[in-house]
Amino acid sequence: MDPFESDRETMVREQIERRGLQDQRVLAAMRAVPRHLFVKSSLRKHAYADRPLTIGHYQTISQPYVVALMCDQLELADTDEVLEIGTGSGYAAAVLAQLCKRVITVERIPELAEKARETLAQAGCSNVTVHCGDGTLGHLEDAPFDAILVSAAAPSVPEAYKQQLRVGGRLIIPAGHSRSSQSLYRVQKKSDTEFSTEDLGGVAFVPLIGEKGWQET
Ligand code: SAH
Repeated sequence: MDPFESDRETMVREQIERRGLQDQRVLAAMRAVPRHLFVKSSLRKHAYADRPLTIGHYQTISQPYVVALMCDQLELADTDEVLEIGTGSGYAAAVLAQLCKRVITVERIPELAEKARETLAQAGCSNVTVHCGDGTLGHLEDAPFDAILVSAAAPSVPEAYKQQLRVGGRLIIPAGHSRSSQSLYRVQKKSDTEFSTEDLGGVAFVPLIGEKGWQET
């Protein structure tokens, strides 16, 4: 028995469906993943609230709606191979894992990567691999990907992500000149050299820190 099942149902109905997201696969994925496992035990009662929560190391687990929106915009098929940058708690990776064949996720903070591995195993996500390192360079070993989700904000879109997408592939990334507020972009690879870019609106993510991202402060 999952004591949070009704909280999760309310989250899906009131935060996600009510904001107009209708894709049944994405809604089912949001219903399936036990978000409370991905937050600290002291915050468990807030796990299904309509906001991000701290996960330590000055990082956050994203607001449920933002995760659903990003997954929806990736238009995933169950045969897709997906790269996520910024594993954090592992929650978004767990949602992606319901929607595609395989998820490779990269986290720069070793303690978060280790904890995410444990939580993902506990949640039964056997199709997710967590790597520790600088994700601003993508993950060449497993490229190309059908979709890339970047869960931290870059000053601009790192070139490696575009190169590591298959033709037809989609990239969702928050980017902008300010460290504290950005736009969420959807980039689609139309051919080896052509990309379309759509601005999905303002967001506030933690910074993507690394060689092609922001400097550590
Ligand atoms: N998807 C996460 C949200 C994590 S917040 C979740 O569902 O919980 C963003 C994460 O990006 C943080 O954990 C941060 O440490 C990580 N990050 C920042 N820069 C990074 C980089 N260059 N490579 C990999 N991870 C990075």
